Amino acid sequence: MNSIINILPEHLANKIAAGEVVQRPESVIKELLENAIDAEATAISITIKNAGKLLIRVTDNGKGMSEEDAVKSFYRHATSKIASYDDLENIHTLGFRGEALASVAAVAQVELKTKRDEDEVGTFIRTEGSEIKEQTKSAHQRGTTVSVKNLFFNTPARRQFLKSNNTEFKHVYETIQRLALSHPEIALEFVSDDDTILALPGQGLDERLKSLFGDRHFSTLISVKETTDLLSINGFVGKPDFARKSKVDQFIFLNKRFIISRSINHAVFSGYEHLVEKGNFPFFLLFIELDPHKVDVNVHPSKMEVKFADEQSIYRIVMSVVRKALGQNDLMPTVEFQSSNQTQFSSLHHVAQPRWIGDERGLSSSVPNTPFGIEAKKQFENEDFPFDLSSKLDQIFSTTPATETAQQQIEAQQVQHGTRESEAQEGKAIWQLHNKYILSQIRSGLMIIDQHVAHERILYERALQRFNNAVPSSQQLLFPQTVQLTSGDFTLVKEVLPFLQSIGFETKIFGKNTIVLEGVPPEVKAGTEATILQDILDEFKNNQLRVKLDARDNVAKSFSCKAAIKAGEKLNEIEMRSLIDQLFATSMPYVCPHGRPVLIKISLPELDRRFLRT
Ligand code: ADP
Ligand code: MG
Repeated sequence: MNSIINILPEHLANKIAAGEVVQRPESVIKELLENAIDAEATAISITIKNAGKLLIRVTDNGKGMSEEDAVKSFYRHATSKIASYDDLENIHTLGFRGEALASVAAVAQVELKTKRDEDEVGTFIRTEGSEIKEQTKSAHQRGTTVSVKNLFFNTPARRQFLKSNNTEFKHVYETIQRLALSHPEIALEFVSDDDTILALPGQGLDERLKSLFGDRHFSTLISVKETTDLLSINGFVGKPDFARKSKVDQFIFLNKRFIISRSINHAVFSGYEHLVEKGNFPFFLLFIELDPHKVDVNVHPSKMEVKFADEQSIYRIVMSVVRKALGQNDLMPTVEFQSSNQTQFSSLHHVAQPRWIGDERGLSSSVPNTPFGIEAKKQFENEDFPFDLSSKLDQIFSTTPATETAQQQIEAQQVQHGTRESEAQEGKAIWQLHNKYILSQIRSGLMIIDQHVAHERILYERALQRFNNAVPSSQQLLFPQTVQLTSGDFTLVKEVLPFLQSIGFETKIFGKNTIVLEGVPPEVKAGTEATILQDILDEFKNNQLRVKLDARDNVAKSFSCKAAIKAGEKLNEIEMRSLIDQLFATSMPYVCPHGRPVLIKISLPELDRRFLRT
């Protein structure tokens, strides 16, 4: 067969999302790389000069083209990848529009060299502004080389539109990086103005990630894997405390195509709910594999946007898969001392501390009588934490349809860990530091807990649980409190009243701008009943200004922040132990609802290193 490229009939060509694909060097590179990958190359080499403005050359060792197809490949709507409307609904290749080479050739001087295995000698074609200027036989190894010179040479207006070399290079690099990630098995070389930027052998995804981002970065990733009837997902999500202020390192690949999807992005963020502060972006890299019939990639010329047949299900699956992966991992930030005068915390949240109001209250609540209490305590004593939090997550957020009940899961875990129970060290040392931090020995070293944020996390999850419970837990006040509010706060109270009630506030409206507080949640410290409501309202408004939260979540956060024990409060040993037990009974003991770390760990080896014991 000497030709596999068809010129698409007009009715089919018209169905293809129309639009210009060549906007800048990066778009040329994307198209050429996609062609090389579609041609089943196992090695690709990219050379650019002047950020691609002067030269872009892509060489692949793929299947090559016959002379006939080499000519045809420059025609509009010429493609070997689809032939019928059905094919358009079932796309397995990166390209299918048959327009890339034609569009590139229209705005540059293009040279193509190509050879198939079965051909003795290859083909050389030179075009200029869509016209074939030269066509000869030429030597080439199996595969194809496309050189694109002087991009926009015949459209000066568009050339002027190009940005600085730095900016254009950045775009080029990002595109190459995406394809390097989606196809780690392909060896990749990238040379820019004689500098070798990348020289990657064909490798596995883990190795490719390490090559591109470094070993250290790789160690901050949690692997994700899940297969359902609808789709399969695998990849990595970053530990929350490594989230950054910028959005760059986020990759979603759908059937190996890099896509931009607000919906999936949002699903991932929901999976991180309460683990990263708004405005911080976690790293993630997810490969979603889906039956091509269930997604339309033909909605945008650059094929980066897609349309899912069942977006909602995909959203739900992605969210719970991310949540589960995070829940199953030890997210405890570890302190590493980098050099003698520089200490670096792996946790990088710089959130303003709330005002602390010191007082003498101890932690009154005892170990919760949830089934978690017992299990968590055991887990804590056995520590080295990678314990399975997913069942707890499921119970608290009740998103993933659980096959077993949470109780069954916990019982199963207890059986599983039963043998370790005898190892539990009773009466392990525990200290309070500056009435602010709790220090505790754990098997792998030292754990330091921030008492306020720890309690915040506990109260926050209790609030969330109460939202789902029909009967609020409330403590009747012997002497109901009359609370005088500003008219703004009075309106606000009326607005959030249902949420306040479900976490345990019993209130009555009492004339203009006045309410009567008849009951409070059991966690509210005796003596603060009169002020707690105002504190919560203030925090609520504060949050409203700072971040976008829904009212329910805001109430939960404001309550947990204001009712939690504060820095400066002295805790006795029983209170500290109780706090730790309750903390490890939460779905996420490692970060507070605002995304700040609750605890950090300093490992024994790290201490040994500091004291030059190694
Ligand atoms: P599309 O990729 O959408 O089919 P293109 O304009 O990018 O359209 O390419 C047109 C055709 O040229 C492809 O369908 C393919 O058959 C052929 N082709 C392009 N580049 C290569 C390559 N590097 N190796 C082999 N064939 C190629
Ligand atoms: Mg193509």
